[in-house]
Amino acid sequence: MKAEDFPRDIRSHLMPSHNGHLIYRCLGCGKEYGIKELLYICPECRQVLLIYDENFDRLKDISGEQWQRIFDYRKMLNIDALKGIYRYHEFIGPVIPLDSIVYLGEGHTPLIAANPAMQEKVGVQFFFKNDGQNPSASFKDRGMASALSYINFMVHQGYLSDVLAVCASTGDTSAAAALYASYLQPKVKSAVLLPHKKVTPQQLSQPLGSGAAVYEIPGVFDDCMKVVEALSEHYSVALLNSKNAWRILGQESYSYEIAQEMEYDLSRAALVVPIGNAGNITAIMSGFLKFFDAGIIDSLPKIIGVQSRHANPVYRYYLEPEAAKRHFQPVTVKPSVAQAAMIGNPVSMPRVIHLVQRYNEAAGGQRTFFVEVSEQDIMDWEIAANRNGHIACTHGGESLAGLLAARDCGAIDAQDTVVLDSTAHALKFAGFQDMYFEENFPADYHISPRKELINVPHYIQPQDLDQVPAPGRPLTGEPFEQFVNRTAEEIASRLNLKRKGK
Ligand SMILES: *Cc1c(COP(=O)(O)O)cnc(C)c1O
Ligand SMILES: [Zn+2]
Repeated sequence: MKAEDFPRDIRSHLMPSHNGHLIYRCLGCGKEYGIKELLYICPECRQVLLIYDENFDRLKDISGEQWQRIFDYRKMLNIDALKGIYRYHEFIGPVIPLDSIVYLGEGHTPLIAANPAMQEKVGVQFFFKNDGQNPSASFKDRGMASALSYINFMVHQGYLSDVLAVCASTGDTSAAAALYASYLQPKVKSAVLLPHKKVTPQQLSQPLGSGAAVYEIPGVFDDCMKVVEALSEHYSVALLNSKNAWRILGQESYSYEIAQEMEYDLSRAALVVPIGNAGNITAIMSGFLKFFDAGIIDSLPKIIGVQSRHANPVYRYYLEPEAAKRHFQPVTVKPSVAQAAMIGNPVSMPRVIHLVQRYNEAAGGQRTFFVEVSEQDIMDWEIAANRNGHIACTHGGESLAGLLAARDCGAIDAQDTVVLDSTAHALKFAGFQDMYFEENFPADYHISPRKELINVPHYIQPQDLDQVPAPGRPLTGEPFEQFVNRTAEEIASRLNLKRKGK
């Protein structure tokens, strides 16, 4: 739609004009730093940072209802820079000019209602938000769109040149980083560090395909992360892990979209989010808090963080009900099908602790909950979901298993409308489905496939056929006709099909 066709009171807000003043703030000592420098930790006390807008209160000059209308009308704009996460420009990156924004089709992923069979099985109304439908097939694209738009802006301003972007990854961060960096080459190059044999073949193919330098390191993700931290400390590189607070800003879009899709009424909404390095749950809480603060939503949804029993440090931390007695203890991870969340020492833990407290205070009561689930439940529920029209990966299965755990402990009840984060596309983790269907999970996963969920292909070749076609050796004539008819009969018999009456 063209600008002149919008209502008069909307027209002047269609193009973002808010003058944000963004700063990094340390969650340890509270010191603030300008954003002209790439910072990941506080130079003083080495704690993680979050980005704040010192002019945030000016956003309140526009009423919450007016913001709702602005975002709703912006859906109809045909301006690339505002088609993705920057529809919410004022809340995500109000210093980034539109011509620096990198848009590769991220964000605005669909909310898909579970079908009646699944709703009945689970006993709660729920949706999957399919973040696997982002360009590199996981939610990480939201954060990368923000981080790389910022880097692009810094390059345009002359503050940065010849950027080498680096990240450690359980697979999806590197796929997203390499994709967005490749769009900006040759100004930006990327290198990714992966734990050897701890990412799926599909995930490994992604940064390779995008032309990134790919390094495989022995150990698990937590080890890779330490190497990347050493690199970013001693060399001039741009760190793209979620330690980078720009990633968090971009991932807040997930919350804004849910608010918008639910018509800004979140009073009965509950979200279930798998936790690995805890960047995503940080961003989700931060996003809702901002919309709440600006009056765009008038209630904060419940947030349920879910972890596998094989990588559950955040869950363990919150087992202690009394805040003063809680003590964070990293865990040694065990093999998990929720491999992208197989992290024992989440980098964003201080952010989670900070935001959980703010979130519950703002909500006036407990709205954050943490549950753990078994590897068995993750796989069983992933497969059950996908047999009912979803495209959930193992982490989507973890979200659904988390919904059941939250229902069982009373965190979610039948009145809630639940949104499950389907963080990546099923195809990225197809290998775990293969292990389930072929019943060859290594013992340390503790998964025994349920017979009724197993599905394998059947090879059909009737015994009485003399000849069958082969690649490069087609059949013709009578033998071909026989092959077609006998094979069709064999399949019909296995499917118990009745012959049509003449
Ligand atoms: C990264 C990732 C997670 C975990 O998100 P964090 O921000 O690290 O907590 C979950 N699922 C998938 C598919 C991921 O790629
Ligand atoms: Zn500090």
